[in-house]
Amino acid sequence: MPTYRAPLRDFQFLLHEWLNIGQYKDLPGFGEVTPEFTESIYSEAAKFATEVLLPINQTGDSVGSKFENGNVTVAPGFKEAYQQYAQAGWGSFTCDPKYGGQGLPEALNMPITEIISACNVSFGLFPALSHGAINAINFHGSDELKQTYLPKMVSGEWTGVMCLTEPQAGTDLGLIRTRAEPNGDGSYNITGTKIFISCGEHDAAENIIHLVLARLPDAPLGVKGISLFVVPKFMVDNNARNTLSCGAIEHKMGLHGSPTCVMNYDGAKGFIVGEAHRGLKYMFTMMNEARIYVGMQGLGLAEVSYQNAWGYAHDRLQGRGLNGAKVPEKPADPLTAHPDVRRMLLTMRSFTEGARALAIYAALQVDISKKHPDKEVREAADNWVQLATPIIKAYFTDQGSEVTNLGMQVFGGYGYIKEYGVEQFVRDARIAQIYEGANGIQALDLVGRKMPQGFGKLLRSFFHPATEFVAKHKNNPEMADFTKPLYKGIDSLQKASLWIAQKGMANKEEAAGASYDYLTMFGNVMLGFVWAQIAEIALKHKGDPFYEDKLKVARFFLNKVLPKHYGLLATLTGGVKHMDLPEAV
Ligand SMILES: Cc1cc2nc3c(=O)[nH]c(=O)nc-3n(C[C@H](O)[C@H](O)[C@H](O)COP(=O)(O)OP(=O)(O)OC[C@H]3O[C@@H](n4cnc5c(N)ncnc54)[C@H](O)[C@@H]3O)c2cc1C
Repeated sequence: MPTYRAPLRDFQFLLHEWLNIGQYKDLPGFGEVTPEFTESIYSEAAKFATEVLLPINQTGDSVGSKFENGNVTVAPGFKEAYQQYAQAGWGSFTCDPKYGGQGLPEALNMPITEIISACNVSFGLFPALSHGAINAINFHGSDELKQTYLPKMVSGEWTGVMCLTEPQAGTDLGLIRTRAEPNGDGSYNITGTKIFISCGEHDAAENIIHLVLARLPDAPLGVKGISLFVVPKFMVDNNARNTLSCGAIEHKMGLHGSPTCVMNYDGAKGFIVGEAHRGLKYMFTMMNEARIYVGMQGLGLAEVSYQNAWGYAHDRLQGRGLNGAKVPEKPADPLTAHPDVRRMLLTMRSFTEGARALAIYAALQVDISKKHPDKEVREAADNWVQLATPIIKAYFTDQGSEVTNLGMQVFGGYGYIKEYGVEQFVRDARIAQIYEGANGIQALDLVGRKMPQGFGKLLRSFFHPATEFVAKHKNNPEMADFTKPLYKGIDSLQKASLWIAQKGMANKEEAAGASYDYLTMFGNVMLGFVWAQIAEIALKHKGDPFYEDKLKVARFFLNKVLPKHYGLLATLTGGVKHMDLPEAV
């Protein structure tokens, strides 16, 4: 069975040394955020995840959820684990204290999200979707809806699910057909079929609250005519079963512990959230957090894959070091004696540690954008979050897949064998590139919406601090290993931004064709900037192995991974117009 140790030291370093989170103690929820507090919560989260969630991860995969007569039974151990999770209060961590939440910062929740995703990504979907549904009701629902649903959702007694997709409406939600007929008493009858609904039906909690996108009879066509409804599985006033049912669960490549449901609504009673026809807009206001969460799935799986690959590479003896035996007393050297195995391990580690830093920074910016008293500071944080969200979602999940594949490669043939557990990471990671807006759609969001916004003000929220950082260290020889490659990365990214902006005005299809390379380049350079900042701190603690390792990994990322921007710039600006190529070869 794979093992996992939560990177507790790294969490502490990032929160308290790099971000100096104590400086925000006057913001709501930040008062208690001391090193002692975070150490104790992450130790507890790690204990829960490794003792309860990790042991059921492989059976979650091999047995999965079961569907019978419209009922879904969760995989063995999942119900008990969910109840322990809810009782311990993990689900209410960042929720509004008005409804029983603990009101703690999102930044503090990121490490917990990573730990859970690493130990059991399928399990993580149950609370994650609830979180999305809680936010939808809390941000946009009436007081009555909030009072009726939030306390039990926040306590975890009820779960929540997000029901957008229909057979003909995936990326293009304007094609949604599910109907909502007003009953005249403030409620609506919802009729239609939703597919691919994660945790849409299950037996782990006593009620499931569906957040359903549907059209009112007078709705305009397209995305502007969609409203959002709360549709409970059991009615709250009399516990009667609502007329919604699960028609089937999907048989998938991975994520078997999370039931993916076909949901039928046959005149099910629902209640509108906010105003009519604004449902999609409401969904989009919650996208940032949901997308960052999906990015965390990539990171969590990458981390657990890295840790197991690292352990295996130290134990497995094959061949000898090229410059002589590393461990002559043994019949062969460990895999770590080989430069190519080091390449794989360092590629993995330089992603996970850099991405962890970026994720916690992103969550802190989310907190600041909501809670800071100064409007300008809130806006600046929001600009950065808007820009970084599609990058985090797509880059983290692409790299997450890549890293889990590298993990399997380090294991050689054993990696391909189920018993070792690392091929599950590859299968579980794959979906994150597709759902919550496929990664190609994230790239279009970056280029089509985020780049032009406010004449490039979102772009400036990255370029300004990054170029200032490079300028600040211009005459610092110790930082040259980090800032020189970073400078080149920023330069390529600026050239790419200009190219896309110019093409975008002349020919949108050409800009769209370059968007994926651009997003990948942006992710690389963002991580490069993070690594350079970490190196700046690490240089102050030379001789301490934790910081020495940081310097080595930073050097690797900035000099071995980041330079991919040269190739990306070349392909991006290469002048090949995708739409001029034949549709079928
Ligand atoms: C395991 C699983 C869990 C899921 N959970 C949920 C859930 O809980 N709730 C929910 O509502 N949905 C859920 N989904 C649905 C998921 O969000 C969709 O599958 C996803 O949005 C893509 O839609 P689609 O599958 O119809 O693909 P399509 O929209 O048909 O897209 C196919 C491909 O074409 C590309 N494409 C489509 N349109 C464009 C365009 N305009 N420009 C460029 N490229 C484009 C896409 O990027 C993609 O690569 C889940 C799906 C799975 C498999």
